Amino acid sequence: MHAGDVSIGTGSFVVMAGPCAVETEHQVLETAEAVAAAGARVLRGGAYKPRSSPYSFQGLGVDGLRILRKAREQTGLAIVTEAMNEQDVEIVAEYADIIQIGARSMENYSLLETVGRCGRPVLLKRGLTARLEELMRSAQVIAEAGNPDIILCERGIRTFETATRNTLDITAVPVLKAVSHLPVIVDPSHAAGIRSLVPVLARVAAVAGADGLLVEVHPNPEKALSDGMQSLTFDEFEEMMHDLQRYVSMPPVLEDSRRPLLVVGGNC
Ligand code: PEP
Ligand code: MN
Repeated sequence: MHAGDVSIGTGSFVVMAGPCAVETEHQVLETAEAVAAAGARVLRGGAYKPRSSPYSFQGLGVDGLRILRKAREQTGLAIVTEAMNEQDVEIVAEYADIIQIGARSMENYSLLETVGRCGRPVLLKRGLTARLEELMRSAQVIAEAGNPDIILCERGIRTFETATRNTLDITAVPVLKAVSHLPVIVDPSHAAGIRSLVPVLARVAAVAGADGLLVEVHPNPEKALSDGMQSLTFDEFEEMMHDLQRYVSMPPVLEDSRRPLLVVGGNC
């Protein structure tokens, strides 16, 4: 599928990177230049933020979308950003190349139907406690509404483990690729919750056959308004991208798991 001039799920490993939230124009433009120079093809950044607390930064809204547009003009990066509710889909679709549906919205069926009609590719994140079968069902809602351009995103699930923010279910990659033709990407940032673990999870994602990554990067993570703990600095991002080169060029390891008999639902 195509988002802007980026082709996703067609063999090349596509990295989407940028801050958790759009905070200022300077922050976003600086990050866009840095991630583009390191090889990212898509800029991420939330203008509308789903937060666990009503007292946390909620995002800049339309002003944030304008900043993202400016970053696209300056760098040529495609833009992925979240729409949190039906009313925002139209405006987000006007500014974004890919519309993100956050983990907390995976079961918001009216939102899914709305993005199914929006004419933009959709990045669908797995819910915190969603089975792969349920993720696929949400993808079907979008597809049924008329939009076949869906990217599935494994971003870690909630388990009894508390050492990391979530537990990366790397098995999701080969399973989803076996049961669907959709591109599958991994978000190591929300899975880990800790900056130092992001590069190794990214590497594992590449080896498992993911079509790309969604990674949080911030010019000054200590000062980030959201998710600073899991955001990479520019240098760390560049190093990670360099490290990934030899893993993305490895022959695919998926052939054995691509068996038609693997049924999500039956096995999950
Ligand atoms: C995000 O991408 O910043 C985000 C809020 O992710 P998730 O919906 O996976 O928690
Ligand atoms: Mn985030």
